[in-house]
Amino acid sequence: MSSNILQLGDGHAHGVDSEDHSLSVERLSMAFPHEGRLLVALEGVSLEVEQGELVCIVGASGSGKSTLLNILAGLDEPTSGRGHVHGRVALMFQEAALLPWLTAAGNVELALELRGVKRSERRDVARELLNRVHLNGFEKRLPHELSGGMKQRVALARALAQDADVLLMDEPFGALDAITRDRLHEELERIWTETGLTILFVTHNAREAVRLGDRVLVFTSRPGRVGHEVKVNLPRPRSLDSPELAVIAGRITDRLKHEMGV
Ligand code: ADP
Ligand code: MG
Repeated sequence: MSSNILQLGDGHAHGVDSEDHSLSVERLSMAFPHEGRLLVALEGVSLEVEQGELVCIVGASGSGKSTLLNILAGLDEPTSGRGHVHGRVALMFQEAALLPWLTAAGNVELALELRGVKRSERRDVARELLNRVHLNGFEKRLPHELSGGMKQRVALARALAQDADVLLMDEPFGALDAITRDRLHEELERIWTETGLTILFVTHNAREAVRLGDRVLVFTSRPGRVGHEVKVNLPRPRSLDSPELAVIAGRITDRLKHEMGV
């Protein structure tokens, strides 16, 4: 991994600037070589997320959402412009990506170990984190003994174990059934309220974005850019099925369809 400002885990900005945004992206572009040409995945993306905010990005498949999160997580370098995260960052994907030979608790303990938590404390802290995502009693299960929703709960506990300031979530509930996803929305919202985490949540589902976000950034397609921003003023917790939510999500979906030329 390259030496990237994003990997500084000290919770402080690294000299360059001291704005109070938890996360900022400035005129960021990313192009990939593709069949002898350049494929421009992102072009001139600018956005800011305040500390403690939960912001959703919604965009069609291929609009560069994952590319942006990977850059913010320090896994990739942009072609131009920059992304900056203030403090420690954790990333969560659609697949829980748990180590199959470790138990639920073992997966969380490993994240604690990597963070330097003492061996004598790891078991208790892991148990507490698994409690927090309502997995008490499942500590000793192996990943293949857990449902998809439970695996994502472990992944969330593992992300919390990293004691991050900013949580980047890349369609984390995309593969779950509607009821499980509904529960995880509640859990995530509760944890977000309790911890004051800053969350950037990516989805292609407009309803999910409106369910969770303080704001929703609607991405354009090819290249990806923030085309539109929607502030969601509905009270929390929101119901995915509420008519008010459906109206806002409907407008976002219309924009996405327009982007896709449908
Ligand atoms: P999304 O997450 O919104 O579906 P991605 O960020 O995965 O979109 O991809 C955006 C575009 O960039 C796509 O056209 C994809 O094929 C391309 N792309 C992503 N990663 C790479 C890569 N490592 N090499 C080449 N092309 C890539
Ligand atoms: Mg993606």
